[in-house]
Amino acid sequence: MHSDPHLADPSLADPSLTAEALDAADPLRGFRDRFTLPKDVLYLDGNSLGPLPANTPARVARLVEQEWGEGLIRSWNDAGWYDLPRGLGDRIAPLVGAAAGQTVVCDSTSVNLFKVLTAALRLRPGRQVIVSELGSFPTDLYLTEGVGPARRPTTTPEAPEGSASRPGLRRLLGRDGSTLEELLDGDVAVVLLSHVDYRTGRLQDMSAVTELVHRHGALMVWDLCHSVGALPVQLDASDVDFAVGCTYKYLNGGPGSPAFLYAAARHHAAADQPLTGWFGHADPFAFEPGYRPAPGIGRFLTGTPPLLSFAGLQAALDVWDDVDLAALRTKSLSLTSLFLRLTEPLGLESLTPAEPEQRGSQVSLRHPHARAVVQALIERGVIGDFRAPDVMRFGFTPLYLSHADVRDAAEALREVLASGVWREARFAAPAGAVT
Ligand SMILES: *Cc1c(COP(=O)(O)O)cnc(C)c1O
Repeated sequence: MHSDPHLADPSLADPSLTAEALDAADPLRGFRDRFTLPKDVLYLDGNSLGPLPANTPARVARLVEQEWGEGLIRSWNDAGWYDLPRGLGDRIAPLVGAAAGQTVVCDSTSVNLFKVLTAALRLRPGRQVIVSELGSFPTDLYLTEGVGPARRPTTTPEAPEGSASRPGLRRLLGRDGSTLEELLDGDVAVVLLSHVDYRTGRLQDMSAVTELVHRHGALMVWDLCHSVGALPVQLDASDVDFAVGCTYKYLNGGPGSPAFLYAAARHHAAADQPLTGWFGHADPFAFEPGYRPAPGIGRFLTGTPPLLSFAGLQAALDVWDDVDLAALRTKSLSLTSLFLRLTEPLGLESLTPAEPEQRGSQVSLRHPHARAVVQALIERGVIGDFRAPDVMRFGFTPLYLSHADVRDAAEALREVLASGVWREARFAAPAGAVT
């Protein structure tokens, strides 16, 4: 177990402190005013869709009215549109422990996974196997099916792939083995894992796992969707090869805001990503008939960026410019520890590790009627979410939640369970509901 310097967690040290006392000592409490949240809502779903930063509407309006409306096509240069995929990447870089020039903002996490997984496979000729985890977010699993020389035949996640004559090209932790080590050998080209598990909130030891993967000659891809903006990430110091992540969860970039992609500088010259569009060309405005990749991280770009969405991300990153990530981690652990402590008497099983150093910034509790309980909480203004089959998921985002909010959320859960209100018919899943 590695030691975590951020465990000076006041609520762990002194359970007698009130939520108000913890909030009075919170160095991040001023950030609440930088978000626009509806009154009477306690928002515990910022790990799925971050709320609206207060400066976003004006920033988006400026892009629409001035940069587009007045500037028209001149804004590609005058407003710096052309440089934004790299420029926004360099603004995200400090949040993921990356030196400049290795991160771009483009496309979706799913599309970027396709690019980096294919690039990693091509960097390890002679090796064909991808290792991932059965419990991964589905798009990550689906993409590991879609990359490679040809799409593999459809298999259910539970049914082993391949045969003795055609060894499986994909191995899944939790299906083909119970430890990563037993899945690694000289056939493995790349390993894809989530830094924080979307369902349980378990945090992986990025450095140790990356080192293990490298010892077996494979490349490491981390999915940071549930860690960027939730805790400090150290991509360079952990010697990571590639990473992807989305910006609409903890970063608050807005619905559908574009994803980011990190590639370590040492791979740029040889990296050969498959979506060779003109934005990744060495000289896009030469309009040459043949593709020549841009030097550096630019070769991971594909097509025209979504500028309206970029404006939302710019506004969100203005907030992040002022955030101390060590303080963020301390408060995150204080909030999740408090929620775990206050809900412990309810007797629900927690999927989230009790050990702070193995925890992201969410708490997941099991209940056989999790969906109905979550719906009853939402009716009371406490917005969490449900993940099939029986998980209630609560995200704790330190920039706009207080310890008093955590206490109130725990109390709401206690009341919903004690009263049995969740049994009422209106909380039953409608047929064909999207969960
Ligand atoms: C949210 C999430 C995604 C989202 O991918 P999109 O392409 O943005 O839809 C991918 N991976 C993980 C682990 C996620 O949590």
